[in-house]
Amino acid sequence: MNLVLAVDLGGTKIYSALVGPGEQILRRDVRPTEAALGQKRVIANILASLEAVTPAGALRDGSILALGVGAPGPLDPVTGRIIFAPNLQWRDVNLKEILQNALGLPVFLENDANLAALGEHLYGAGRGHDHMVFITVSTGVGGGLVLNGEIYSGAFGGAGEIGHMVVAPGGPVCSCGNRGCLEAVASGRAIKQRAVELISAGNGNKILHLAGGSPDEADAPAVTRAAQEGDPEAKEILETAGSYLGLAIANICTLLNPSLFVIGGGVARGAGMFLLDPAEKEAHLRVLPAFRESLKIVPAALLGRAGVLGAAAYARRKLAERG
Ligand SMILES: [Zn+2]
Repeated sequence: MNLVLAVDLGGTKIYSALVGPGEQILRRDVRPTEAALGQKRVIANILASLEAVTPAGALRDGSILALGVGAPGPLDPVTGRIIFAPNLQWRDVNLKEILQNALGLPVFLENDANLAALGEHLYGAGRGHDHMVFITVSTGVGGGLVLNGEIYSGAFGGAGEIGHMVVAPGGPVCSCGNRGCLEAVASGRAIKQRAVELISAGNGNKILHLAGGSPDEADAPAVTRAAQEGDPEAKEILETAGSYLGLAIANICTLLNPSLFVIGGGVARGAGMFLLDPAEKEAHLRVLPAFRESLKIVPAALLGRAGVLGAAAYARRKLAERG
């Protein structure tokens, strides 16, 4: 049997899958990461999740070829070392080696957003686009580049950190410590921060109402609901976030000239046109005029599956390269 295992390791959940040829997910398991309980616990959870999708005896009889792992970075795909993952509180962990020793399978590790980009490129919204940029807007903002049909990870494995491009010099402080990164102005966290600021200034009544009266619950979903009900303040928050996203898209488009931008992530999916319309408008306004016509932005298609499908495809490619 031509099977591979895949894991998408996130800050809140672990998604494992047994993947047949192509995009066939034969078995899946989703469970909490429990990052706060420490590294040993997380690794035990990954192994338990993989066990749940592995048919009895399949590790020994050779029917599973490899494991592909998507993990938060920055990481080194060659050595398999996670350099620093703030969501997991991990520093310098060789996850590839740990999993290889535990399973006795070849393990291939890449940045989670890069693998989601590959998944969308092969099986999702980016099919047929060999030069594609994937941007995920959730609690943070991540990105992945597919160039010439391959993941582009740069000299040190860190390419595609779109969330940390500076789009608002002098803007709010980002989770990385710099100021005015895209993540600091367009992520779910940033949207919530703006809503909370609005409420503390005595405004944002509609958002506060939809947050059940608690400013702490005035998150991106609450802001989106308010926008859907026509609230101008909520619309403006999403419009501002979307415009910054569009500014980043324009700059990336001018740099790389891709044929498609695919936008994924829970916040983008929830906010839909309230985020993507202003992004598109701003991107068209700012991009090199010669590229205006060809600039195309679409929502992601695979939702939560992009990461594991990309991880499985990546493992197959890397195995083939090794021969
Ligand atoms: Zn940053």
